[in-house]
Amino acid sequence: MPGEGSPDTEVVLVGEAPGFNEDRLGRPFIGRAGDLLVKLLGSIEWRREDVFITNVVKCRPPDNRDPEPDEVAACAPYLQRQLTALDPALIVTLGRHSMGRFMPGARISQAHGTTGAVDPATGARDATVFAMYHPAAALRGAEVERQSFEDASHIPQILLDARARRAQTPPARPGPDHEQSPGPDPDLEPALALATEPTPDQAADLTIF
Ligand code: URA
Repeated sequence: MPGEGSPDTEVVLVGEAPGFNEDRLGRPFIGRAGDLLVKLLGSIEWRREDVFITNVVKCRPPDNRDPEPDEVAACAPYLQRQLTALDPALIVTLGRHSMGRFMPGARISQAHGTTGAVDPATGARDATVFAMYHPAAALRGAEVERQSFEDASHIPQILLDARARRAQTPPARPGPDHEQSPGPDPDLEPALALATEPTPDQAADLTIF
């Protein structure tokens, strides 16, 4: 299950693995956790179509068990290609399995709500990572839910910071796909309107997995 969303987006949300319904319908986060994720995005006036939503593991682990390290490793090249194709400024990790790919060794209870620089070995170029609890964890506890909404409220500013950070870094490769971004526009509303229209090439690249 590759994921879905806008290939033009600056923001990629990375969850854990498809559940039963996600696996059946080929769409990420369509159950109760997905409903909460939509509410979290809605709290900053974003829609799920504005971002790209995917998972570290592309197949459903049997009985919804946690993904095994070898399963995460087997799926890593797919996530890597997706991140290279999407070239996001900001990666939001949902839960500890996703966080582990981008903030190795971090503990979710301490790392949620914090940012870091993304290792280019993940496939992303000059991206910032922001760790959040998994929405399923927020469904299980009121305090984690409250904390998740608070963490989400910081995302628009973190995106502005991520853009500014990128703008200071020279492009990795020459060419139109890797031009420096112009940096934050001071007139932008905090809840940024994100582009949603894919180019045919981008759309093809993101659905091959
Ligand atoms: N949980 C996840 O981590 N990913 C999904 O796609 C659905 C539920």
